[in-house]
Amino acid sequence: MSTYHVYPTRDLIEHDTETDDCVCGPLTEPVPRDDGSMGWLITHHSLDGREKQEQNR
Ligand SMILES: [Zn+2]
Repeated sequence: MSTYHVYPTRDLIEHDTETDDCVCGPLTEPVPRDDGSMGWLITHHSLDGREKQEQNR
């Protein structure tokens, strides 16, 4: 099973992209892969409020 990490670059913290136990509380979602197997998409959250600022723009 494969795992993909999506995480903000140049964040205030160092994201743990080796496990799914990062301090930012990442969102883990199962995603189907092209060969029919399942993988995991792990979406990390930035801790500097960047996402919130972009949404309010
Ligand atoms: Zn993280």
